[in-house]
Amino acid sequence: SSRPASPPQATPMMEQYIEIKTANPDSLLFYRMGDFYELFFEDAEVASRALGITLTKRGKHLGEDIPMCGVPIHAADDYLQKLIALGHRVAVCEQTEDPAEARKRGSKSVVRRDVVRLVTPGTLTEDRLLEAGANNYLAAVSRLRTGEGAGTFGIAWIDISTGAFRVTEADAVNLPAELARIDASEIVIPDVLDDDAELRQVWRNLRGSVTPVARVLFDGATAADRLAAFYQVATLDGFGAFTRAELCAASAVVAYVEKTQLGQRPPLDAPARDSAGRAMLIDPATRANLELVRTLSGEKTGSLLSVIDRTVTGGGSRLLAGRLAAPLTDPDEIASRHDSLAFLYEDTLLRERLRTSLREAPDMPRALSRIALERAGPRDLAAIRYGLEASIALAALLDGCPSEPPAELVAARAALAAVPRDLTEKLAAALDDDLPLLKRDGGFVREGYAAELDELRQLRDESRKVIARLQAEYSETAGIRALKIKHNNVLGWFIEVPAAHAEKLTSDPGTFIHRQTMAGAMRFTTTELGDLETKIANAGDRSLAIELEIFADLAASIVAAGDAVKAAAEALAVLDVTAALATLAEAEGYARPMVDDSLAFDIEGGRHPVVEQALRRDSSEPFVANDCHLGPEKDVGNGCIWLVTGPNMAGKSTFLRQNALIAVLAQIGAYVPATSAHIGVVDRLFSRVGAADDLARGRSTFMVEMVETAAILNQAGERSLVILDEIGRGTATFDGLSIAWAAIEHLHEVNRARALFATHYHELTALSQRLERLENATVKVKEWKGDVVFLHEIVPGAADRSYGIQVAKLAGLPGSVVERARAVLTQLEEQDRRAPAQALIDDLPLFAAQIARPQAAGAGSLTDELGELLDALAPDDMTPRQAHEALYRLKAKR
Ligand code: ADP
Repeated sequence: SSRPASPPQATPMMEQYIEIKTANPDSLLFYRMGDFYELFFEDAEVASRALGITLTKRGKHLGEDIPMCGVPIHAADDYLQKLIALGHRVAVCEQTEDPAEARKRGSKSVVRRDVVRLVTPGTLTEDRLLEAGANNYLAAVSRLRTGEGAGTFGIAWIDISTGAFRVTEADAVNLPAELARIDASEIVIPDVLDDDAELRQVWRNLRGSVTPVARVLFDGATAADRLAAFYQVATLDGFGAFTRAELCAASAVVAYVEKTQLGQRPPLDAPARDSAGRAMLIDPATRANLELVRTLSGEKTGSLLSVIDRTVTGGGSRLLAGRLAAPLTDPDEIASRHDSLAFLYEDTLLRERLRTSLREAPDMPRALSRIALERAGPRDLAAIRYGLEASIALAALLDGCPSEPPAELVAARAALAAVPRDLTEKLAAALDDDLPLLKRDGGFVREGYAAELDELRQLRDESRKVIARLQAEYSETAGIRALKIKHNNVLGWFIEVPAAHAEKLTSDPGTFIHRQTMAGAMRFTTTELGDLETKIANAGDRSLAIELEIFADLAASIVAAGDAVKAAAEALAVLDVTAALATLAEAEGYARPMVDDSLAFDIEGGRHPVVEQALRRDSSEPFVANDCHLGPEKDVGNGCIWLVTGPNMAGKSTFLRQNALIAVLAQIGAYVPATSAHIGVVDRLFSRVGAADDLARGRSTFMVEMVETAAILNQAGERSLVILDEIGRGTATFDGLSIAWAAIEHLHEVNRARALFATHYHELTALSQRLERLENATVKVKEWKGDVVFLHEIVPGAADRSYGIQVAKLAGLPGSVVERARAVLTQLEEQDRRAPAQALIDDLPLFAAQIARPQAAGAGSLTDELGELLDALAPDDMTPRQAHEALYRLKAKR
């Protein structure tokens, strides 16, 4: 971008503008001029286009017109929101002195201005710029270049609107999954990583905007010191142990906050380690395919979150989204959440009372953050007040339970009961019920809170009465009935008498001071009236000053109690989520799942939570519940693969997805849409469902499909749950069939995961003859008068035919085309008497035999081959997984 150079003939204001703009080259500069923020040069062009506002000119620069556009202060938030949503960054530049000060320096002096804040997608605090139910994360990603653990990534993420702060580590394989889980609005990375060819795809796949910054922000040598300085502690030991990569990322995220907030310190929690392995790993493609928090087209409506979210607070909604992004893997933790849910599920009355109180609870963390950043208004103070009051009420409700609540709820109750009562009372006493938006409007302090303020307000309100009293007094002493006390903007308050009576006042110059002679009237003042006048004028200023002092005092008390406020807010969120999931379970008929360390996957009467609700709303047909059993047959061995065949539109995808969603719901601690569910913890969830072309990134459907399939076959283990839908559809029949075939064999022999595999290649069903843990399942259909009727019922066995032509007919293909297709099909079927799949089963060597054959395998004996394989093994360098796989390879040599 061409930045204007500052020429000697630039006006002082332009000089100042250019200097500030030069320091903030990558942000749009909002330059404060009176009641407007103005943008100049290229910024003006960009903003006028983005915001649809008029582009005008203001003065000249280097002999050319300066393009300019402006947004009024009062509407600035709306414009900011638009610009941020479009991925822009904005530097807000304010006047930092009174214009009178500038004038004192000389007539040509420009008012001092400075950037007071950088607004970026990840650093928003205003309610109008934020979504109530979603976290707005800012993340930083570091990579260790040298030393132990080189190549490891550190990830730190914060929400400055709530103070949440987490760190974790990832390797190159897990990085995309972790970033997809965090789903930050803005990701700060060192510029070297931006240039890294291998990572380019990772950054491009992110929803948030990626901000490369100078790598010094990530400097490992100063990381710990920077964090300690931010938290004003001597050492970080009290926060727990962090790895080098985590420290670098954490310090970078803090440095970036300091940079964008220009010295203001948001109330960030101490960083907490988000230990890897605690959450179910869900890679970005799976997350997108399963439409957990938004649909494939990017909308909230229709996502799993949208149909299960019955929370009544912003904090609850954020917590639910957070839990959904990271299902647990520890059966005890999961059971503890289920226990809480069960408690509120049983006690309907308590639950309803809790929800009623929760509805009254405002968003405390966000208000707290604005208060700490000195961006708060009176309503933010009130949000804390009502939040604390709700906390106290909720603690009392939980105290009154007939039976002792489970541990999680007891902890929540303790946090709620611990809110500072004195602060709550102080806020209630100080804050009026109706509050202005801005503190500078005044009028938010309650009567009776500050004696001086009451006095001043009384003076203001009663000024007319006082003036009337004075008028009566003067009129009587002077003996002029027509004497009046009046007010205008030039003189202020004055005494006016008809000219005929003026002499009575001019004769007493000690009391009445002459101000003005009019036609037929004379105007005077008195020391008393002058004093009163000053007092009235000052009263307004003074009472505002007192209110602002009270504001500052309340704000300071709140910030001092920040930890207790946040703990209470978290407890409110936990209660909200638990009560909401109980409400959901009751309304939708969900059941408590059992989650343990086994490899079970036994779902009875499972339903798809989203499709079920949609059908109820839009159709008279009920959702058909289906069982799914992927667990090992006996107590030993691995889970099964179900190969699901059936015509298009029968319900295969729905069935596949519903089982993945049931696992997710179970592991976030929710009840599940099933009559019963027993699930051995799923540590990784994979899905390859319905391909969407990714032409924007230059990948065909088939390529996307293969990349995703490769990830699954390379990474899935026995604790994984794998959902594969229609692999190989994007290529020629035989290619596709062959790939699907080999993928199933690999899943069965190597990954040994619990899996659901839907396909339209009926040939694959022959595999069940050879693969002991592969079972065929099909979706039942009925033929009726040449049409196909979908029963949506999953039963053992293979589909006999694909009914493609019937489905095409249902879709409205012209009758002549349907007839012709029938004829072609009959011909083809006759030519295809000997099923090719059976030939494969008969003639093809076993998959295991094939993968185990070494590259240079020649005529050597079995012992030679085994010897070679054994030589190649390095037990010390192997993960248990790799060791396990090696054993299979060896065994296959028999
Ligand atoms: P397939 O993957 O076999 O082509 P889908 O899973 O996309 O089929 O299902 C097609 C439609 O059938 C869905 O949009 C839904 O409306 C309906 N459907 C699927 N499963 C069920 C079910 N179990 N009960 C009722 N309707 C269902």
